[in-house]
Amino acid sequence: MLAASEEDLSSSETAAELENPCSIPEANDCQFSSTNLDEKSSTSFEEDGSSFHSWSEPQFHDDEHLSAILENLNNKPMEKFSDNLKEWALQYNIRHKALGKLLLLLRDHYDDVNLPIDPRTLLGSPKNTGSRCSSISGGKYWHQGLGNCLRCTFKDLSSDISIQLNINIDGVPLHKSSRAQFWPILANIHGMEHVKPMVIGIFCGQTKPLDVTEYLSPFVNEMIPLLQNGQTINGCKIKINIRCFICDSPARAFLKGVVNFNGIHGCLKCTTEGEYSYISRTVVFPNIHCALRTDTEFRRKIYGKHHKEDSPILKLPGFDIIKDIVIADPLHLLELGVMKRCLIGWRDGSLGFTAKLCGREIEKLSAALTSMKLPLEIHRSMRGIDCIAFRKGVELRIFLNYVGVVILKDILDERVYFHFLLLFAEKNSFQLNQKKI
Ligand SMILES: [Zn+2]
Repeated sequence: MLAASEEDLSSSETAAELENPCSIPEANDCQFSSTNLDEKSSTSFEEDGSSFHSWSEPQFHDDEHLSAILENLNNKPMEKFSDNLKEWALQYNIRHKALGKLLLLLRDHYDDVNLPIDPRTLLGSPKNTGSRCSSISGGKYWHQGLGNCLRCTFKDLSSDISIQLNINIDGVPLHKSSRAQFWPILANIHGMEHVKPMVIGIFCGQTKPLDVTEYLSPFVNEMIPLLQNGQTINGCKIKINIRCFICDSPARAFLKGVVNFNGIHGCLKCTTEGEYSYISRTVVFPNIHCALRTDTEFRRKIYGKHHKEDSPILKLPGFDIIKDIVIADPLHLLELGVMKRCLIGWRDGSLGFTAKLCGREIEKLSAALTSMKLPLEIHRSMRGIDCIAFRKGVELRIFLNYVGVVILKDILDERVYFHFLLLFAEKNSFQLNQKKI
């Protein structure tokens, strides 16, 4: 076995990152939750108020845990100790450099210890991962593949099964102080909540992937035979279907190769055309009774300016690019969209139909927000109206669902308050209807 020099052990690598590429970091609180939508019962990702999620910082503080492991060093078989050490390193994201040093110390102090000198050996880190990385426009892409994920998940498969996949694509910032970001392609299996979401591939760059074809081609090229022939494990067949893609609004437009959701031709489901309002400085959609878009017409590219580029997901067999990409994104459309714009519009008078709030009213609104006592199950406190620009989606959701209807009554004029009530009532009646489906 070759000893690894300190230079080999990149200080940025942590044990968990390399050991378990199939897992999703715990701090990524992107969660699957079922929500019924139109004719497809779909699933949406709930987010904590931001479209992005932070990775957890490495932790190295559990001295008691480590002490317990060391105390038992002489009392347990070496294999057990080695497993415990590996588990500890993964649990606390121990850096390879630190783990390598610990291995050296243990080997120096305990003559009969039989531990590897290289932390990667202890952790069983995958080899040749570099060969799965390729440079694409905007950064690098690592493809693990759905086949690998399924072989790992169903290693004990003993009968034929059929699975339906929900696919998610979104951006994840890596650090607060840099623009480096991941764009993972994730999949979970509908109806198998015990199976953790699987990481099919990850893009890493300073921006989002610049070319949708380069980014999605490895995924699509692998999926085509899997969808046609399924995956065989232990002689048993897994029949695979893609149930839907679940993404936020910007990612949906990118994935489909169409204009963004706030564009004049941005509606993904119908052919309505928006108009730019110079009063509210938004695109509005005055006509809601328009023909629905269809998969056949989309493939014939008859939607004019709706199309931007050809997306490789059109090659997926049996895939309906209209119905199989569900639209449920209250975060961007409703909370960070309409609710935030209303608050800014009321404050600044920029909506075009009302004067801006005076200083006294803004103070009153901020005081009401900051002094409000919220139920225990709501963990985030409200901030004043001067922090609108920094508001998280979850704060705006609380404002729309609970707080606004109470505190705006004495601040907004009657006509504007009634306008807000329409939004409040419509949102709640929509949610009720969804639950009934
Ligand atoms: Zn529409």
